[in-house]
Amino acid sequence: MGDNGRPARPTERTDVPARPDPTAHRDVPGPSALPDLPAARAVTDAVSERDVEVLTEQLGRPPRGVVGVAARCVCGRPLVVRTAPRLDDGTPFPTTYYLTSPQAVAAVSAVEATGVMKELTARLGEDDDLAEGHRRAHAAYLADREALGHVPEIAGISAGGMPQRVKCLHVLVAHALAAGPGVNPVGDEALTMVADRWRPDRCTC
Ligand SMILES: [Zn+2]
Repeated sequence: MGDNGRPARPTERTDVPARPDPTAHRDVPGPSALPDLPAARAVTDAVSERDVEVLTEQLGRPPRGVVGVAARCVCGRPLVVRTAPRLDDGTPFPTTYYLTSPQAVAAVSAVEATGVMKELTARLGEDDDLAEGHRRAHAAYLADREALGHVPEIAGISAGGMPQRVKCLHVLVAHALAAGPGVNPVGDEALTMVADRWRPDRCTC
């Protein structure tokens, strides 16, 4: 495999936390339970050569900075990649969870085109529970990224508009798929919005 397709090389960092038990499964909270935060999910899932091939096909270019596959289709193909907070060329990369499935991207884009982000952002100003959940999702996102390394340029900055706005549903859906239900409420809701076009439990690859 060429350099381009290789997952990010291990950095020289010495403060990367030990890998968690890969067999440990995150608890999925019930509807009334709020997730305990921060629930850092460090790199657990290796990227195979086949994954890199699929990612290259999905993205139309070799993936950059990929350190793990954070969510997979039921068929095993990557849906979401976990990306290093700093790319090999030094660029800070805030989008730790990146949605790669073209089918999922298209479905989310179709929902975005209806203008729901404005509506969701407005709801953050009216619905305290949703706003609190969005802030917690922001904190969880940052905790996950911090587990991959500290990048001062993007410290405290998550993605997708969190914690104040809803700017990019692709980001929030990617986080919801990676973290599981109950961590990113707007992402969870966006998943229900796209469910008639795409859903993670049904392969449309
Ligand atoms: Zn599939």
